[in-house]
Amino acid sequence: MDANLELLVELQQIDDEITELDAQIKAFPEQVSQHGSALAAAKAEYDGFRKRLDDANKERLQKEKGVEEKNAAIAKARMKLNEVKTNQEYHAALHEIENMKGAIGKLEEEQLEIMEKLDSAKSDEKSFKERVAAEEKDFAVFKAQKEAEVGKLKTEADHHRARRAELTAKIPAALLSHYDRIFSVRENKAVAELKNGYCMACHQMVLPQLALEVRMGTTIHKCPHCLRYLYPAHEEKKAEASH
Ligand SMILES: [Zn+2]
Repeated sequence: MDANLELLVELQQIDDEITELDAQIKAFPEQVSQHGSALAAAKAEYDGFRKRLDDANKERLQKEKGVEEKNAAIAKARMKLNEVKTNQEYHAALHEIENMKGAIGKLEEEQLEIMEKLDSAKSDEKSFKERVAAEEKDFAVFKAQKEAEVGKLKTEADHHRARRAELTAKIPAALLSHYDRIFSVRENKAVAELKNGYCMACHQMVLPQLALEVRMGTTIHKCPHCLRYLYPAHEEKKAEASH
């Protein structure tokens, strides 16, 4: 096979490896964010729980305020007792005070219920926190592992890029620039195998004379359809050589 064609075939192999590695590296952030969804869910549930606690606490404070207001109203009503003129007014005022005392009792009871609920929520809070912590740990382990993997892939890709630079230095500029152009417009493939007269990249047939010349491997040919460089399939190259 032509020496330059051999270099182009090798270049395509290196580029295939770089393409594959880059795709894996690119997939990394998506994998990490997908893995983070369990942690996000645990955090959201914990936030919801905290919000319910806050709401209950606000309700309790409101009831506390209600008790204070009623106590102030009772004090005021008691002062008024001294000013009432009739027995009827006196009894009405006493009745009002009793009603307010009843309301206070009810508010205090409700307050107590909320406090009991808040108390028992403490153990729930512990399990919510533990779940978030476990998910955080799991996520951190996964992320560190992925980062290590990506680090390895990047090192490997750098190694291939260094090999690529060495190789391209040996390839004539005109050949290389055609390679680069086809590589960028033809799905990262600028070199294709010719097998049974077909270009294995675009799957179209080439003329027998061209196929023969590719098998002989004395000059570099391009597929007339997709313009990729053509190299002979391994077994065909051998067969031609034995003739
Ligand atoms: Zn082709």
